[in-house]
Amino acid sequence: MARYVDKPCECCGQMMYNVNSLRRVCMPCQKLRHRLKRHEYYEQMRNNATPEQIARRPISQLEKDSAAADRCGLSYGHYKLKMSGLI
Ligand SMILES: [Zn+2]
Repeated sequence: MARYVDKPCECCGQMMYNVNSLRRVCMPCQKLRHRLKRHEYYEQMRNNATPEQIARRPISQLEKDSAAADRCGLSYGHYKLKMSGLI
């Protein structure tokens, strides 16, 4: 059965009132912790990605157009104007 207590946040020390006895950090700290963990996981996956994982990453239209412009030896802006028929 849940028991409600008053206790300080383990992260910032702010007093939390009438919270579940298992709660360790306040909501802002919980959100910050989650964001930092997600960022850490993202960096880990980014740095340790296998070539297969890299190949499976979706490529945006901007990246495709930019690569095509590089192959043509044009800037992205010139490439897009040329493709739209304005030049
Ligand atoms: Zn806190």
